[in-house]
Amino acid sequence: MEEQIKEWPEPFSTTGDKTSTFDNLRDQVNAWLKEGKVDIFLGYKMVQGHPLPHCFTKENPDETDELIVGKARYSLEKMAANIAAQRPEIKIGLLVRDCNQRALNVLYVWNQLNPDQVETININCCPSRLKEHGDCSYLEPQPSGSYKKQVGIDNNMDVEVAEEFSQEERFHRWMYEFEKCIKCYGCRNICPVCFCQECSMEHNDLIATGTVPPEVPIFHLVRAVHMAGRCIDCGLCEDACPVDIPLRLLYRKVNQVVSDMFDYKTGMRADQSPFNILGDEVTLEPKPI
Ligand code: SF4
Ligand code: SF4
Repeated sequence: MEEQIKEWPEPFSTTGDKTSTFDNLRDQVNAWLKEGKVDIFLGYKMVQGHPLPHCFTKENPDETDELIVGKARYSLEKMAANIAAQRPEIKIGLLVRDCNQRALNVLYVWNQLNPDQVETININCCPSRLKEHGDCSYLEPQPSGSYKKQVGIDNNMDVEVAEEFSQEERFHRWMYEFEKCIKCYGCRNICPVCFCQECSMEHNDLIATGTVPPEVPIFHLVRAVHMAGRCIDCGLCEDACPVDIPLRLLYRKVNQVVSDMFDYKTGMRADQSPFNILGDEVTLEPKPI
C-alpha cells in the first residue's frame, strides 16, 4: 500500500527543524519498523554533512529521528533490488519520489523485484510540468558553454531540436560528445534500471576493452539500445557523468521510438511487461530510426 506525504519539506532539514511533515514521516517509518510492517527502511541520513542513503532497521527504530528528505537522490530502488535478491524473505520500505516510483515499476515488470516485498512512502516532490513522465525539476542540466553549443550537443536541448541538424552534423556533434567519455561506468552504475549481471559494455567480444575513450559510438549505442523501453528519464546518469555527455537526450530518443512504435510508456505501469505489447502477432512496418 502506498502512503502519500503531500508536502515537500525544506531540503536537508534535520532533527533540529521539526516540521509537522517531517514528524509525520519519521513517526510513520518508526511505527512501520516497530510494528514489523517492514524489516528495513531505505531513506536518507546526514553523515558528516552529506545526505547519504541509509538503511533504517527494526533493531534500531528510533534512529528514524535522523531520517531526512531533501534534494539528494540515489537509486534506493536499485539498493532494494540488490537486498531483495539476497534476502527475499524480508519486507523493504522505501521513500519514493515520482522517478523512484517509475523505476520501481520497471523493476517489477522485469521481475527484478517482487512488489509484495515492498512498501513505499511517496513524496510529492516534483512540481515539473512533465511530472507525468519525465523531467525532474531538481536536475535541470547546467547551461552549456558556447563551445559545446557550437560543436557538441547542448544538454538542455529537446529531441526535436537536436534532430534539426543534418545527419552528418548530428553525427559529428554526437561523436564530439562520445569522445569525451572516460569510461568510468558512472552512468551504468547509478542507473536504477541497469540490472544485468553481465554487462555488454564490459564484454571484450562486443566492445574493445582497455582503451579510453571507449570504442565510440558503439559503447554508448549499446547502452542506448538497452535503455529502450527501460529508461525512466530520471537523469541520474547525466548528473553522474563527469564530462557532461547528454545521455538523457539520447535515451529519450530511444524511448520515443518505443513509444511511437508500441505506445509503451516506460515506468508508467507496474502490470505491463514490455514484452506483452508485442501481442500474439507482430505486424510492424520497419521505420528508419
Ligand atoms: S535517465 Fe539515465 S540513470 Fe535514469 S533510468 Fe534513464 S538511463 Fe538510467
Ligand atoms: S558516466 Fe559519462 S564518462 Fe562515465 S562511462 Fe558514462 S558516459 Fe562515459
